[in-house]
Amino acid sequence: MAIINMRPNIWQLYFKRFGSCVYVIRMGQHNILVDTSSKDNEEELLHELKKLKIEPRDVHYVLLTHTHSDHIQNLDLFPNAKVISKENIKEFLLPRWRVIETPGHTKDSICFLHEEVLFSGDTIFNIGIGRTDFPESEPEKMRDSLDKLKKVNYEILAPGHV
Ligand SMILES: [Zn+2]
Repeated sequence: MAIINMRPNIWQLYFKRFGSCVYVIRMGQHNILVDTSSKDNEEELLHELKKLKIEPRDVHYVLLTHTHSDHIQNLDLFPNAKVISKENIKEFLLPRWRVIETPGHTKDSICFLHEEVLFSGDTIFNIGIGRTDFPESEPEKMRDSLDKLKKVNYEILAPGHV
């Protein structure tokens, strides 16, 4: 388990056990998470949020890069969060965020860009790209999605796994 401060208001939480990274973004009064990892990491997630002085009930948005179980399992911890996924991206109205649809790894894969940090889920990693051999994948769309990301201006990659 480790926590990395990527920007003054953005933290990366990653875990030893299987499960996605969780990103914490503070934007004015809003606390936003990107993905919620797996149940194996529930305790550590709560512990790290506490260190950041964020109560689960004070998480306002959870952004899901896609709905694989290792990215979404702790959603129940955040009763007041509005959950944003590909299904309802039109309802995500915070300023200075961009949502990029990147089907391939899954049909519902999306990436988020904020302050030149690209939250890329399992579409791209620091080394390599996400698998496209799941039943829920759309391998034929991966190339277009990768091309789309190449045109995005970002300074820091914040992938689903490190
Ligand atoms: Zn995945």
